[in-house]
Amino acid sequence: MKDCLFCKIIEGEVPAKKLYEDGMCFVFFDKNPQAPTHFLIVPKKHIASAIDITEADAQAVGHMYAVVAMLSRVLGFSDSYRIVTNYGPKAGQTVQHLHFHVLAGKELGTFN
Ligand code: AMP
Ligand code: ZN
Repeated sequence: MKDCLFCKIIEGEVPAKKLYEDGMCFVFFDKNPQAPTHFLIVPKKHIASAIDITEADAQAVGHMYAVVAMLSRVLGFSDSYRIVTNYGPKAGQTVQHLHFHVLAGKELGTFN
């Protein structure tokens, strides 16, 4: 989608530290890491937010979780990680292309 930062990263129009890519998703390091390991995984299809996910996206979203599990083994943090998705201004969403934050490498604390 035009004027979407993460679509531009997927297309290579904006540089990013790419970690992984396949037909359905793109993975790159967050430019402002909040943990020793902090990357973002995004669907290649432009989905604006978690609220816009439909049943038609089930395969892509499930695939993203499987890719994170695979990468955690490859990169050596399969012991513990956190996946976070912010939706909406009150939850701190700043980029309007669905993304999962993947955080690992430190004690992450609990928030329940
Ligand atoms: P959120 O605030 O949940 O929408 O997350 C957006 C994330 O994208 C933030 O953690 C930013 O640090 C990150 N971010 C923004 N622009 C870039 C970029 N060009 N490359 C990598 N990460 C980015
Ligand atoms: Zn987009």
